[in-house]
Amino acid sequence: MRIANLSGRLVLLHEGKAVDVERASAGRFGPDPQAVYERWAEFRAWAADAEPGDTGVSFAPADLGSPAPAPRQVLAVGLNYRDHAAESGFAVPQGLPPVFTKFATSVTGPVTDVRLPEGGHTDWEVELVAVVGRRAHQVSAADAWGHVAGLAVGQDISERIAQLAGPAPQFSLGKSFPGFAPIGPWLVTPDEFENPDDLELRCAINGEQVQKGRTRDLIFSVPALIAGLSAVLPLLPGDVIFTGTPAGVGLGRNPQRWLAEGDELVSTIEGIGELRQRFTS
Ligand code: ZN
Repeated sequence: MRIANLSGRLVLLHEGKAVDVERASAGRFGPDPQAVYERWAEFRAWAADAEPGDTGVSFAPADLGSPAPAPRQVLAVGLNYRDHAAESGFAVPQGLPPVFTKFATSVTGPVTDVRLPEGGHTDWEVELVAVVGRRAHQVSAADAWGHVAGLAVGQDISERIAQLAGPAPQFSLGKSFPGFAPIGPWLVTPDEFENPDDLELRCAINGEQVQKGRTRDLIFSVPALIAGLSAVLPLLPGDVIFTGTPAGVGLGRNPQRWLAEGDELVSTIEGIGELRQRFTS
């Protein structure tokens, strides 16, 4: 199943068209895309039996918002692929990788213009995003997929000067400028994948591929992250987890490279879809 946020309303995607959930369910489920995660199991059961018929409408990707537009918590992890840890000059983490947040105001839909912070070094990080569908506190890795509503593409856009300034890194601030957390284009439930633990992810700048990896190379897989994070804090329905990026970011290049005005960044995950960001100054 695929759900999306079309102009602020929850829709079910059926044969490439958008079916308005509030109308199709005769009001049983409201239009708020974020609210559906509170009733995820009930919604899944309804959607499995729903007969959308020919009520779907065509839509433009630019009209989509984040499938989780207002999460209470956004958890993000760094250094979760060996090749990216190496290019960043860090040892592979022993316990959980570094955990930070992308503040919720940075969350946007899949097709956006992003303003480059003045004087900054703005970088790209394509990442698999998992959205929580059932409260998870102290769950085992074996049970973790049962707490995931679905997967989406994410970009952990990062301004490296702000991120790395000061006596201790400011990951959360450097990664939370407006528009720095595009998510989408829709949410795909885990059962849609042959293997949700092995998806190809890549991104390109102006058509030139800069990152390519597979989620099977995550040091902490989605289930391992949920087990590790939920050992400390409860993960709530609708929470977003950015799972880390493979090698190929601008920081790790020689010479280093940053996003510039006019650049178009396209981020893709196999079986999900793509994000498209245009950078302005
Ligand atoms: Zn990241």
